[in-house]
Amino acid sequence: MFSSINPADGQQIASYEPHGEAEVGRVLDEAVAAQAKWRAEPMEQRCAALTRVGAALREGRDKFAHLISTEMGKPLAEARAEIEKSAWCCNFYAENAQRFLADETVEASAADSRIVYDPLGVVLAIMPWNYPYWQFFRFFAPAIAAGNGVVLKHASNVSGCALAIEQLVHGAGVPSALSRSLLIESKRVAGLIADRRIAAVTLTGSTAVGQLVAAEAGRHIKKQVLELGGTDPFIVLADADIARAAEFAARSRFQNAGQSCIAAKRFIVEHSVADEFVERLTGHARALKLGDPLEDGTQMGPIAREDLRDELHAQVERSISEGAKLVLGGGPLAGPGAFYQPTILDHVTTDMAACREEIFGPVAPVIRVANVDDAIALANDTDYGLAAALWTSDIERANGLARRIEAGAVFINGMSASDVRLPFGGIKKSGYGRELGVYGIREFTNIKTVCVG
Ligand code: NDP
Repeated sequence: MFSSINPADGQQIASYEPHGEAEVGRVLDEAVAAQAKWRAEPMEQRCAALTRVGAALREGRDKFAHLISTEMGKPLAEARAEIEKSAWCCNFYAENAQRFLADETVEASAADSRIVYDPLGVVLAIMPWNYPYWQFFRFFAPAIAAGNGVVLKHASNVSGCALAIEQLVHGAGVPSALSRSLLIESKRVAGLIADRRIAAVTLTGSTAVGQLVAAEAGRHIKKQVLELGGTDPFIVLADADIARAAEFAARSRFQNAGQSCIAAKRFIVEHSVADEFVERLTGHARALKLGDPLEDGTQMGPIAREDLRDELHAQVERSISEGAKLVLGGGPLAGPGAFYQPTILDHVTTDMAACREEIFGPVAPVIRVANVDDAIALANDTDYGLAAALWTSDIERANGLARRIEAGAVFINGMSASDVRLPFGGIKKSGYGRELGVYGIREFTNIKTVCVG
């Protein structure tokens, strides 16, 4: 049985019976048949369906946002923004898929040589709870536009979202067998990956699960996209606008209670400006209004689950025992719910948990460095490589430094954020493959060469 627990008060909202094996088998059979028909539909019709999904998301925005907030705890305003971004993604691919997947003619030895993009089949999507709609829709929109079918295994704590997504997609006229949500325990996922009816896999989640999924998909030679965690650096050089950098740093670290793969997770600051940066960041963190995600004005809700809150606290305690200086917060809030105080750790060094491990919560470790070369070396001294932010007033220098940073994206004088028009994804243990933009839609296609002799 899956339980949805409201992390703001610890109360159970609903429970859900997992799908049995026979039901899973039926879903897969039907998805394969539906995808065979869907791939033959003209692109215009597939895109029209996506436009309707976008409209349904906007229409039901407040209802969906309420569900997100109660199941995983983000403030309503952030949940609404998540729904709007998901709708944008559907519209973006509805408008651009035709162009992204148009046949390309190439001068080669045959009389007529072309590249065409065929769908792969039914793709299994294993998705996390931190952006329960967005994470799914940024995969779904391009996959469906390209002619694939979709089976979603969502995180167990957002089963209500998983079922609501299924209902909304069907209500918008996407063939019901083509996109399904399966409520199954994670131990059953390996069996799905192995199943010949599943053509490919995408996962957004932890690196630990990424390793398991990659091994399983590798065993069966199935295409995979992995969007895993990160320890994204936020580098502040001495010539930066410190006030603005601190404002963006707070937003990047504390939105969604710090539970974002591309949140800034290591603040690497040049010595000469570190005191001012820490002071300003602390001011922003102290001003955050924590509370019930459903209440107007709340800026930070609880951590999504109690076990995750406890793990987070253990990381903070470990870092302090290793020598980090606690500037703000440092523990759970008393009372019900999985709340954690906005926390700032200063004088963090590379050997401490707060620097080595992904910190998935509202905890900002500040690492002081002597110069720009040390900053870049430290930024790259991690197993991860998702995104990075770099603050300086010298844009020419910044453009050069951006090329030295080992990450899938670099944001100069800004914060890491996804944009449907731009590719998104990581290197190293942050995963491989790209979502969004033109690259995202081609991941789950067979890039086929057709030559006429
Ligand atoms: P997980 O990586 O465990 O969960 C992500 C998804 O993978 C869920 O759907 C989960 O299902 C599924 N899953 C879990 N175990 C397996 C398995 N053995 N085989 C196949 N699928 C599996 O994340 P957690 O929720 O446990 O969060 C732990 C940490 O992961 C966070 O603290 C954070 O560091 C990282 N994370 C990163 C995210 C990102 O955006 N990159 C998103 C979420 C977490 P189920 O819920 O049923 O276990």
